[in-house]
Amino acid sequence: MSISDEIFALFNARGHTAYLGEDVSQTEHALQAAHLAAQEGASDDLVVAALLHDIGHLTNGLPEDIAERGIDGHHEHAGAKWLKKNFKPEVTEPIRLHVAAKRYLCATEPSYHAGLSAASQRSLKIQGGPMGARELGQFESSPHARGAIRLRRWDDEAKVPGLAVPDLGHYRARIEAIARKPSEP
Ligand code: FE
Repeated sequence: MSISDEIFALFNARGHTAYLGEDVSQTEHALQAAHLAAQEGASDDLVVAALLHDIGHLTNGLPEDIAERGIDGHHEHAGAKWLKKNFKPEVTEPIRLHVAAKRYLCATEPSYHAGLSAASQRSLKIQGGPMGARELGQFESSPHARGAIRLRRWDDEAKVPGLAVPDLGHYRARIEAIARKPSEP
């Protein structure tokens, strides 16, 4: 099974589930995020990162209402870990950091928090709230901080019910092009 087949199987099995607290499914959310990235002319690495940024929600096997129960499933870590075998840090690090990017923007951009959806404002609390000074410095020192922030903004926008965007198959060639080949370390 190719990596894109493996990823699409996951979306087909679990992507119809609601993107928690929003009026779109996981698959719709992923496709909208990827489309926004592509429209902005982002690199293939970042377009694929946008498509797969919440894959941890599909792989972690945790109950869907976990956030409502006040538990942080750390889906960003689960997703980055699952993808690590097949993708380089330019893909997995913005994914791992996309929740941190929200906490970063809440601390540094006065208008950002108000623009978040109600569900995203709620989950911010269990994710640790806005970053403190020490965390801000740590986040900024990552070479993938900028990619994570761009990804975060597409994530925040990718919640439009019924929006028509390209389907999963549209991204197959891109996924295969940037995935590690078996011979690569
Ligand atoms: Fe998301």
